[in-house]
Amino acid sequence: MAGGVFCYLGLGSNMDNPQQHVRQAISELDNLPHSQLINVSPLYCSKPVGPQDQDDFINAVACLQTKLEPAPLLDALQALEQQHQRVRERHWGPRTLDLDILLYGDRQIHTERLSVPHPFLTERAFVLVPLADIAPGLTLPDGTNLDVLAANCDRNGLAVIPSRL
Ligand code: ATP
Ligand code: MG
Ligand code: MG
Repeated sequence: MAGGVFCYLGLGSNMDNPQQHVRQAISELDNLPHSQLINVSPLYCSKPVGPQDQDDFINAVACLQTKLEPAPLLDALQALEQQHQRVRERHWGPRTLDLDILLYGDRQIHTERLSVPHPFLTERAFVLVPLADIAPGLTLPDGTNLDVLAANCDRNGLAVIPSRL
């Protein structure tokens, strides 16, 4: 597969061996139709947003070059979440896998199902830091410099997971 739009996807898990869910999801992203996995950040450990009575998260950001339009891409990501037995119990509660579209090229999308760039992108260290790892110097669609946001964000205990050799 050659060509397509460069998208950045946020991955998160805090249930049932989160590292395994995230690593498995990365290989599943690599197998999405009309798409090619370009790069993946290191894995990070982060404190939960919202309810604090849940385990820490494992997070990563992946770059996917895809010919899927945004809505079919979201469909494919939600199908992967379902394959990981994700159950939606409470807002920002524990989950086996969360796959969010952070950026879809430089497009700004506001539909019932999709807000892109992801609305909390600029507020979340567990997104900004891994995104800056794989996209240093990136300019967001509103003109903001990612490196500046990543350097100045509150890391709130964010820690990189040493990679397995
Ligand atoms: P948050 O958006 O704060 O990260 P979340 O990822 O836990 O919350 P979900 O339960 O995974 O939220 O998704 C709720 C809905 O968000 C989805 O059904 C989807 O339609 C919508 N949504 C809007 N924008 C996006 C996006 N950029 N990526 C993924 N889902 C999105
Ligand atoms: Mg999310
Ligand atoms: Mg989500």
